[in-house]
Amino acid sequence: MSIIKGTAVAPGIALGPIHIVRAHPGGVPIWSIPSEEVDDEITRLHDALSLTEERLDRQRRRVLEEAGERDAGIFAVHAMILQDPAALKTVTDTIREQCINVEGAVQALIDRLKKRMEGMQGESVRQYAADLSEPWRIVLNVLLRREQDALGATDHGVVLAASELTPEVVTLLPRTRILGIVTETGGRYSHGAVLARSLGIPCVVGLTNLIARLEKNLQVIVDGTLGTVHMRPDGAAVDVFLGQRQRREARQLELKSHAHEPAITPDGHSVRVEVNLESILDLDGFQVESCDGVGLLRTEFLYMERSQFPSEEEQFRLYRRVLTALEGRPVTFRTLDIGGDKQLPYFETPAEPNPALGWRGLRLTLEWRDLLQVQLRAVMRASAYGQVRLLLPMVSSLEEVRTVHQIFDQIRGQLVDQGYEVSDRIEVGVMIEVPSSVWIMDQLVEEVDFVSVGTNDLTQYMLAVDRDNPRVSSLYEPYHPAVLRALDHVARTAREGGISCSVCGDMAGDYAMAVALVGMGYHALSASRTFLPELRFALRQTTLADAQLLARQILKAKGPAEVRAALDGVRSQLHAGLGEETPSAPFTDVE
Ligand code: PEP
Ligand code: MG
Repeated sequence: MSIIKGTAVAPGIALGPIHIVRAHPGGVPIWSIPSEEVDDEITRLHDALSLTEERLDRQRRRVLEEAGERDAGIFAVHAMILQDPAALKTVTDTIREQCINVEGAVQALIDRLKKRMEGMQGESVRQYAADLSEPWRIVLNVLLRREQDALGATDHGVVLAASELTPEVVTLLPRTRILGIVTETGGRYSHGAVLARSLGIPCVVGLTNLIARLEKNLQVIVDGTLGTVHMRPDGAAVDVFLGQRQRREARQLELKSHAHEPAITPDGHSVRVEVNLESILDLDGFQVESCDGVGLLRTEFLYMERSQFPSEEEQFRLYRRVLTALEGRPVTFRTLDIGGDKQLPYFETPAEPNPALGWRGLRLTLEWRDLLQVQLRAVMRASAYGQVRLLLPMVSSLEEVRTVHQIFDQIRGQLVDQGYEVSDRIEVGVMIEVPSSVWIMDQLVEEVDFVSVGTNDLTQYMLAVDRDNPRVSSLYEPYHPAVLRALDHVARTAREGGISCSVCGDMAGDYAMAVALVGMGYHALSASRTFLPELRFALRQTTLADAQLLARQILKAKGPAEVRAALDGVRSQLHAGLGEETPSAPFTDVE
């Protein structure tokens, strides 16, 4: 039994067997196995070899019929290569000696064969030498596919272990099958992390050398609030877990029963609590009464879930579906925010030395204008079915906003000419997530209807710390005085300019911080659905006067530690009401 400590990314606790997804990006999953399972792994190897040979034979016969002997020959050569007893022995020895899974052992053989081939002298020799690794690659694919099918065929839940926390890992299995996620790298504010929080999957990242310590099906307890992974928990630890889970569930039930009650402070100040949607899946089982609207619809996830750009019609239908589901509450559609760590598989952007400072968000869609135009048309057409707000990401100058306004007016004209109904109440707002936008707030308020602060990026750009780089994750500090002062400046300038302001970055999901943001003057907070009941609860318990006091206190703080202490004070006051234990490590032997 041991406990390893990482970075808490998505709250919640889970107990379950490990399933290893990938050892390194693009690589095959490698895990250790207990010595009594060595023979089972070797049986898996023989099964995969038989399947591959059958497949090669089928292909050989088909090509023989369709093309002739010469082209079919390669399949016979591949089948022969697989019968080489030396290669087979290398793989079985690796499984036995290193006690690792068959996929890992086959990958090791492939690496060795490739190296041998690269070491051959002379280009022409290399060209004519058969690539002995090729048929083993087919065996590897057969193994991986069978493993995936086997996982898909069962219905038991697993804790996914991966090298990196990517959106693909978070969506690998249906939500109900993923009990928790643990990874070696990944920032707390990466998009994988945002997705895990949104789907309510307990998650811990930054667990160095995690994969090497794991075995498939190893039982673990993941604590996404404390950032710990408890391996091979004994009976006592499981009892502690079960007790915690019971209390958590009771608390959530209690919170949920009040989730529909609006966030009005005891002194009568009303705050809008909105939801961030990352995917259409977020609407499954979502109680719309628990929110006052959608504060951020990250439309890029819709683009990421496709194999090509979604058409205007496809987007329109989806946007209409969201508006209908929200039953008249406003929905804030953010235009496509790709680039940086959010890439589309079918849209290759050139490699950039500094992707976060490069071609992303509005910069990209203003250049590839048809992308923006198609999306605006879809959003405007959908405006006939609900209350639409349009939000622009990565704005850094007034010119960008003016250009979008021009395009917006042109498209409205075209749509009306084509006979579409377009609402004349579409509000246009900008994300404040780049320091330059903070300092032109007084000009922005003249030209936009609202602003929404993206604290994830604002922290990254304000502090010059990559939100996805684990090397500098300890410097990524949303409670840095510079970030808090920027937040205060935005709220103040928005108030002076008479426009509404909200926070839709992850900071808004922390109920103690949310109280402080309301104290600064934010009208709305938008967070993942998981956090809405406790946000509303916290705001219903705190007077505006107390929230303002807290805001002043954290704005005076000289550093994050003081901010944390002030927020912890709020948390412990609210804990009793939330029926929650004050967070403290339930286990002491953390590595
Ligand atoms: C943010 O930057 O805080 C934000 C809400 O946008 P994203 O996380 O999608 O970059
Ligand atoms: Mg952002």
